[in-house]
Amino acid sequence: MESSIDISTTDTTPGLYIHIPFCKSKCPYCNFYSVTSFSMIDEFLNALVREMEMYREAFTRFDTVYIGGGTPSLLAIEHFDSILSNIRNTFILSPNPEITVEINPADSPQEYLESIRRLGFNRLNIGVQSFDDKVLTFLKRRHSVREALDTIEAAGNAGFENIGIDLIYGIPGQNMTSWLDTVSQALSLNLAHLSCYQLTIEAGTPLGLRHHRGEIVLHDEELQHAFFIKTSEILENAGYVHYEVSNFARDISLASKHNQKYWNHTPYLGLGPAAHSFMGHKRWWNHSSLDEYIGDIEAGKLPLDSSEILTREQLHLEAFFLGLRTKRGIHLHNYSCTYGYDLISEKADTLARLVKAGFIEINEGYLLPTRTGLAVADSLVSILAFE
Ligand code: SF4
Repeated sequence: MESSIDISTTDTTPGLYIHIPFCKSKCPYCNFYSVTSFSMIDEFLNALVREMEMYREAFTRFDTVYIGGGTPSLLAIEHFDSILSNIRNTFILSPNPEITVEINPADSPQEYLESIRRLGFNRLNIGVQSFDDKVLTFLKRRHSVREALDTIEAAGNAGFENIGIDLIYGIPGQNMTSWLDTVSQALSLNLAHLSCYQLTIEAGTPLGLRHHRGEIVLHDEELQHAFFIKTSEILENAGYVHYEVSNFARDISLASKHNQKYWNHTPYLGLGPAAHSFMGHKRWWNHSSLDEYIGDIEAGKLPLDSSEILTREQLHLEAFFLGLRTKRGIHLHNYSCTYGYDLISEKADTLARLVKAGFIEINEGYLLPTRTGLAVADSLVSILAFE
């Protein structure tokens, strides 16, 4: 796993992601890999331990651990205990690692959260999605607004200080008033972290099929843009830092350290079905099938679906894409040294036009997206990359 390109970021310690591939039921908008039968939990956990062992040499140290899914909170406390013990026995965790677990409000009573906290988890990400019961019903979530609020309170009582929630906007039938009520409810909770995602219709999901049949209509681009801008304005006025297109932290020190690795080209190892990994110039990912994942590991093989070697050009475009989605932006000098591409001289006219139009700023050596730029970050990348 050697790298031929030096990816210069201040953070070079890898992060560890573990995908728990079980859900009680499938939400109609979701295309993350999971199964709704729990019959293979034990085989999965055994395979996971063996997969850790397979990477013992290639990855020695992590400073973040993120257990996502799927629905990790379907696991018993003994399962989490075993996962964390095996991580600690196989790898080195830096002092004060960020250890996050995603939980569903439908299955996380206070005693459960207290046990999770005692095991060493110090950050919770709660899949709230909305504080409007009608929206939760549309999304076929298993929890109510009351349960979400109770879980957030229970998480605080259990000793969690770093609590984040996921919210979704742009849902058919959800108007601006409903969304802004959700935002203001979230603000009243004074949480460390808020992720506000625009609903995307994924082909092949039940919602995608309904959309294809014309049974649901999405909001037009103008309204989606208004959702984004209003959310950013309200949360930033309340003191949150809008540090990535969909992410807000009450203070920049509370930004997700793990997720920043994805945006900074820092190495990460993903274990479990469908998990992705990245190091240097190589990306690889596991089978999106629990059977194949377990089968390969039992046969003594890495459970790889595929891998790719990124060229210098691809890495440079990706760094560009990722950088323009973050408030940190792109450090022009480091970018030029790392990728051999001088944006200022190569794209002078385009940059000047985008600065004039209010999409980007160039400040103290950084190329930064403005709020309007963040709203159209993907289009900015196309303009800058291909004009
Ligand atoms: S949104 Fe979460 S709970 Fe729903 S199906 Fe996807 S992974 Fe499972």
